[in-house]
Amino acid sequence: MALFGLFGKKKAQRALRCRDMGMDCAAVITGATDEEVLQKAAAHATTVHKMQATPEMAAQMKRLIMAA
Ligand SMILES: [Zn+2]
Repeated sequence: MALFGLFGKKKAQRALRCRDMGMDCAAVITGATDEEVLQKAAAHATTVHKMQATPEMAAQMKRLIMAA
């Protein structure tokens, strides 16, 4: 579809719903790669939810990332 051309290569491929991490939060973190989503999600969790970024949290997030 031509419409998708508007987003070019920057189109988000992967997404993580904050709600899926057990938060009462509507945020959806998106990125081109799992690593990008993980970085953004960790920043979101620590700044918005005052959580500590731990390897366990990262592992849980990674399992919850899905195709955008
Ligand atoms: Zn959130």
